[in-house]
Amino acid sequence: MKGMEGTPSLAGPDLQVRSFLSSLGGVDPEGMTEPERVAAVSALEALKGAAAAAQARLTAAAVVDREALGEDSRSVRADIALARKCSPTLADQHVGVAKALVSEMPETMAALTRGELSERRAGILVRETACLSAEHRAEVDKQLAATMTSLGDKALAGAARRAGAALDAESLAERNRRAVASRRMSVRPAVDGMAWLSILGPMKDVIGAHVALTAEEARRHVIDPTLSPQAWAAAAAAAEADTRGKGAWLADRALELLSGRAKDQPQPVEVNLVMTDKVLLPAAFDGQTPDDDVAVIPGWGPIPGEEARTHIADLLDSQTQTWIRRLFTDPTGRDLVALDSQRRRFQGGLRKFLQLRDPTCRVPWCDAPAIEGDHVQPVHDGGGTTGANAGGLCKRHNQIKEEVGWYFAVRSTGLDGTGPHGIRIQTPTGRVHDSTAPPILGEGWIAPSLEDEPVPDAWMLDAEIHEMPLPEDPWGGWIPDPPDDFGLNAENPWAA
Ligand SMILES: [Zn+2]
Repeated sequence: MKGMEGTPSLAGPDLQVRSFLSSLGGVDPEGMTEPERVAAVSALEALKGAAAAAQARLTAAAVVDREALGEDSRSVRADIALARKCSPTLADQHVGVAKALVSEMPETMAALTRGELSERRAGILVRETACLSAEHRAEVDKQLAATMTSLGDKALAGAARRAGAALDAESLAERNRRAVASRRMSVRPAVDGMAWLSILGPMKDVIGAHVALTAEEARRHVIDPTLSPQAWAAAAAAAEADTRGKGAWLADRALELLSGRAKDQPQPVEVNLVMTDKVLLPAAFDGQTPDDDVAVIPGWGPIPGEEARTHIADLLDSQTQTWIRRLFTDPTGRDLVALDSQRRRFQGGLRKFLQLRDPTCRVPWCDAPAIEGDHVQPVHDGGGTTGANAGGLCKRHNQIKEEVGWYFAVRSTGLDGTGPHGIRIQTPTGRVHDSTAPPILGEGWIAPSLEDEPVPDAWMLDAEIHEMPLPEDPWGGWIPDPPDDFGLNAENPWAA
């Protein structure tokens, strides 16, 4: 999500820091000797630590003052997240570290302030002492004062853990218990159309699963001697034909077990692929694949057009029910303006529209999946249930938006061809951030030249493709269904 910010004019540290910041732009390596350059790098490293210390003092004060009034600090933490250009989850970690440093770890805080410790190292000390009482934490802080600035990351973490365990053996057991409670599974995109699936679990369970899988891999070329000769020959031929490496086999098998499908069986869950007609059907455009032969999985990223076509062909070949929905963009191709008018029976058109337009939370830097549809202008203030007045928000920002002092307003509908959908957000401290909907074909998309656009021979997929109702999706509680003619005023280029 792209974000811009505005800053209310402030005096004091804010102004001083900004003038110092602009002076750093004048640091010029030309004419400096190597010792001078290295010395300057070192001095700037110290500056980063000292800046982190100042941020920690300011952050802790902002949150503690709010809490002292008996109020929820959620709103100020969200404001800090925007100020630090990070997700609210990461901001929570910053707040936790700041409070610990300011109130419980004076030696660590002092080393950070002197620029002798980096923000990351201070974070390590806070994390490794998180299960200790304030008293014990202060004791570890004191014990490590002399060495904390000279140890490497791992040694520092180990030293804090050992010192903590010596004071309070129960804390070590508590750490392990807490760690078990934090077991989880996550998916994140990797390069080249791949993705990582990670499982964090108790060591014995994770190793047990890994051992079971590798044992199965070791047996994969062993053929059951009790099979009939025919079955044995078939199994032997299949084993010989399987030339996958160990890593590839393990990955395939793990995914088979997790998804409950056999190798090469298409994934039956809904995966949205967004691509242009030229990427989908090069045959309809003189057989030429376009220069930007790329499809996008909303919220995830690009995959090569060839891979997307193969995936769709596999789905069709395997009789898997597949549907293709036409999306209409503005003339530049950047912004989604409507969905296919031929799907009138589908009741969740607006929901789908927003899921595609706002795959992730619209608050800048949040990155969390958008799971709640929000009326930017609330219904009780006359806000309509329309694509223009809707914004996809994560659960947390949807709640924060209701807090006192937060204002959201639509700056651009994204439907009138004048530019992307825009929302302006003002935080309780008066800072202004603009949120722009990402291009429908993904961030990084480059506007093509509008000249020489080929026209398709015919739109021919509808007859070939089965339609199926959408599966139950996680966007329950979305804004109500739109009127039947919602968003259908866009000119249908295939209608003629
Ligand atoms: Zn969010």
